[in-house]
Amino acid sequence: MSDVAERPVIDIEALRARYRVERDRRATPAGRTYLDITGFKELHADPYSDTSARAAVDDAVDVLIVGGGFGGLLTAARLREAGVERIRIVEVGGDFGGTWYWNRYPGAACDIESYIYMPLLEETGYLPTERYAKADEIRAHARRIGEHFGLYDHALFSTQVTSLDWDGAAANWQVATDRGDRMTAKFVVLTTGPLNKPKLPAIPGIETFAGHSFHTSRWDYAYTGGSNTAPMTKLGDKRVGIIGTGATAIQCVPPLAAAAGHLFVFQRTPSSVDYRGNAPTDPAWAASLTPGWQQRRMENFTKQMAGVFDEADEVGDGWTVLARAVRARLTEDPSLAPRFMELLETADFEKMVSVRDNIGRTVTDPATAEALKPWFSLFCKRPCFHDDYLGVFNRPNVTLVDTEGRGVERITPDAAIVGGKAYALDCLIFATGFETSTDFTRRAGFAMNGVGGLPLASKWRNGMTTLHGLFTRGFPNAFFVSQAQAGMSPNFPHMLSEQARHIAHLVAACRDAGIATVEPSAAAEAEWTQTIVATSGERLKFLETCTPGYYNGEGNVSPQVAQSLPYGAGPVAFIELLRQWRAGGDFAGLERDGAHARNQEQAA
Ligand code: NAP
Repeated sequence: MSDVAERPVIDIEALRARYRVERDRRATPAGRTYLDITGFKELHADPYSDTSARAAVDDAVDVLIVGGGFGGLLTAARLREAGVERIRIVEVGGDFGGTWYWNRYPGAACDIESYIYMPLLEETGYLPTERYAKADEIRAHARRIGEHFGLYDHALFSTQVTSLDWDGAAANWQVATDRGDRMTAKFVVLTTGPLNKPKLPAIPGIETFAGHSFHTSRWDYAYTGGSNTAPMTKLGDKRVGIIGTGATAIQCVPPLAAAAGHLFVFQRTPSSVDYRGNAPTDPAWAASLTPGWQQRRMENFTKQMAGVFDEADEVGDGWTVLARAVRARLTEDPSLAPRFMELLETADFEKMVSVRDNIGRTVTDPATAEALKPWFSLFCKRPCFHDDYLGVFNRPNVTLVDTEGRGVERITPDAAIVGGKAYALDCLIFATGFETSTDFTRRAGFAMNGVGGLPLASKWRNGMTTLHGLFTRGFPNAFFVSQAQAGMSPNFPHMLSEQARHIAHLVAACRDAGIATVEPSAAAEAEWTQTIVATSGERLKFLETCTPGYYNGEGNVSPQVAQSLPYGAGPVAFIELLRQWRAGGDFAGLERDGAHARNQEQAA
């Protein structure tokens, strides 16, 4: 599929107006409220592992990592490389993998190229079997990393941290878990992930549904049969409903359509679904790789996404399509360089025209095709890529139930109601995503209390404040691994890898210099937070134009949203900033062994 050669003639003002209409009719706060899924044990329990009792652990480590997904694995791997041995990883899931432990739904696969998405490939000597690897292969790779770096002996699985309390006198963190563990750690690393808590829409009557139901991150294969890659064998006589049409649904709807007696897809906002083009790994390409290739390829992708065009686009897929279009225009006419943002916006409008045209060509029923068309900018929501999703709606056993932006109205014991019509269901699947806008401690599932017992939730009540997104004053020796106030690449593991490198450097530097505690100075934290707000202008303006979703706080673009955005100068600049900070070697902006880090109550 050509993405830069043909440029359609488009009326940009008319498109802007349509985008506004579509955004506004979805901006209904009442339709965007969510129940706490932990109250629904049958929807939240781990269906994949045995969580039977074990002996409680009582020990002391140098670094305790909360989260055993790629963030935790990368951090632990880099710490091991830096010679830090006393590590503990606490993970809610029954194994390593994080999001890939939980998300095993049929068709689950990475939608970023696996050669840059699956971390530590060179270190572990592994090359993915295909360009966009399936979930089973990615989860196996998480286990490979755990084994390669000897992390299994240090992991506590099926364990939820319940509290983290700073002990100023001992200069360490006291950690409690739901398994009765009591541990201390000099440093804690919070890699709980941005999408760890399943989101359950507050649809009236949801608790009355008497059929079978589950969230996509807790797939019930005992009910459906099949696996991530094998066909589901038990749904042939079932009426199955799925709520949600985000990146998850795009992947699991095609196998569900093939298996279900009838499938009803309940849509509030259509996704942008573009060409995928998966392929087995080319052995000739694999043989051509030279040491350091993965880091270079990750950096190359992040550069394209950040508009840094000093290298050719190596990945060259649907993610970097706008970069290619803008680059082509600049090659035609270099004098356009100062109008970069305008070129990008035009490329986006053009791309979305081609996405909508493709829907019109693929889906035979005109009303269904029209309902599937996305009316927003490509990066307002997670772009999706799938070669079978759209064609599914030509099947006689599949019905798109378009809720015209309002969502499912009501759920009864045996049906979902939309526009007053009842759709009778045996099974209801929630592909409704993950909480992102709720309080950090609600999502992480534990309380965190810093110097003087200050709860993290209190400190961040009016918005988060950090240095580099990694440290926050009053919480010494604690590292927060997220995109908020840090760098953001759609290739999450790339940024996780850079943050892990930084954390390992810092822990080792403290060890080597005999430093017991570090935390940001008040001035450094204020300055960085101000930098985030000051550089957020373009991004905020863009998010305001977007249809509600988790990228823009469900359409609530408040000052607090601005404060938790990634660094506005972009991920390439952020990585360079961290690199220079390390090279400086002077712990700039951090107080070492400061009075504030000691427990003030005890000092008094
Ligand atoms: P999501 O993108 O948040 O999508 C949730 C879906 O549920 C949306 O379509 C949403 O509609 C819909 N929804 C929520 N409440 C509803 C209601 N009351 N009635 C009807 N519809 C409702 O979640 P996701 O699809 O699980 O994806 C989450 C993220 O996981 C992705 O963006 C991506 O970052 C990651 N992911 C990655 C991969 C990968 O390959 N690497 C695969 C899957 C997911 P609205 O759009 O109107 O809110």
